Order: sequence, then C-alpha cells, then structure tokens
Amino acid sequence: MRILIVEDEEIIAADIARALGGMGYVCDVVHDGEEADFRGFTEDYDAVILDLGLPRLDGLTVLRNWRRAGRGFPVLVLTARGSWQDKVEGMDAGGDDYLAKPFEMEELLARLRALIRRSKGHSSIILECGPLRLDTRAARVTLRGRPLAISPLEYRFLSYLMHNAGRVVARTELMEHIHDDIDSRSENALEALVARIRRKIGADLLQTRRGMGYVMTCPGREDEA
Ligand code: CA
Repeated sequence: MRILIVEDEEIIAADIARALGGMGYVCDVVHDGEEADFRGFTEDYDAVILDLGLPRLDGLTVLRNWRRAGRGFPVLVLTARGSWQDKVEGMDAGGDDYLAKPFEMEELLARLRALIRRSKGHSSIILECGPLRLDTRAARVTLRGRPLAISPLEYRFLSYLMHNAGRVVARTELMEHIHDDIDSRSENALEALVARIRRKIGADLLQTRRGMGYVMTCPGREDEA
C-alpha cells in the first residue's frame, strides 16, 4: 500500500512515516501544498493523509483540485484541534475522514486501515484467501492457522494483492505499491519475489497472467479477472 503523507510539521510527518513503515506501508512524505498537489496528480496512492494548514497552497485547495480532476483515492484530513469548521470544510472538499491534532498514532492507523479497506471493498480487518489470512491490524499472515514467516517486502506484496484479490495487477503497478524507492523496482527482482512467495503459500493462490501481471485467486470467490 502506497500512502502520501502531507504535513509541514516535519517531526509529525516523520513520526507518521515511521509508524506507517512499521505496519507495512510504503510512504511518500511532502511538506507543502504545491508538492502535494503535484504528487496527487502524478502518482497512484492507496490513501493520502492531508494536513490542511500548509505552506504555498492550503490543503483544502489541494483536495478540491484532486477531486475536481477525478482523483478518487481516500483522504484522511488532519485538522486543528476543536475546529469543527475545518472538519466540515474538509469533508465537503472531498475528504473521507478526519482526525484532530494532536492525535494518537493508533487512531490514525485504525482510520487509515478502515479507509483503505472500504475503498477496496472489504469489511473486515482480516483478509482471507483460501487458507491464507492477512491481519491488517497486526501486519501478520497465517496459512492454515499457522504464522507464516515472511519479510516486510513479502508482506507488502501479499497485502497489496489480497486487498485487490480477483483483479489482475500489472507488474508496474505492483512495484509502485510495494517498493520504497524507484531503484529497487526491477522485473527480475519481482519474479524472484513471486517465486519465493509461491513456495510459501502454494502456486494455486498466486497466478501469473502472461503479459499482464499477477492475480490472487481465492477459492470460493468470484474471479473478476
Ligand atoms: Ca500544518
């Protein structure tokens, strides 16, 4: 899952990025409205955390620009404490949820999970695919009830494909959503990663669509692909 963090207070931004990184998210951090505006138009995010008071361009304007242009990713708006006007304006501008500062990191994580879950059409914090269960709150995976030993990168891969189960995910899209930096994105590395995961979960669940990408096919679930 790739998240854009827009927050001009650098300590808060770094705290959020650290917390999200520890829970298997890949983060881009920007500190002003113009850069945020640009990223929202050029990158594909699974969610955005958006502070409203920003230098260069305020958060509400950024959000309205995105929505007017049809950018539909879920947005969690950070507001000043006690400012109900901020909340109302934020929601009306196209925000999906809000959180007043100062906030508890656990609450931010829970709200983010809920936003991503809803946007991908899931209702539970546990994603299931046949014998595979992914707990989005604990960032853990079990196979037939037993903990599966996986690396952070393998978790990010499984999380993205399980959130998008039944849909063929293109290689470039997959790499964008699981790698921190552009340098580590390579087709060969991705193939090696897929081979490793197949050895752990079995080849049936994770299928290759030649020339298109990868798909999680869950037994008993309609395959939209
Ligand atoms: Ca601010």
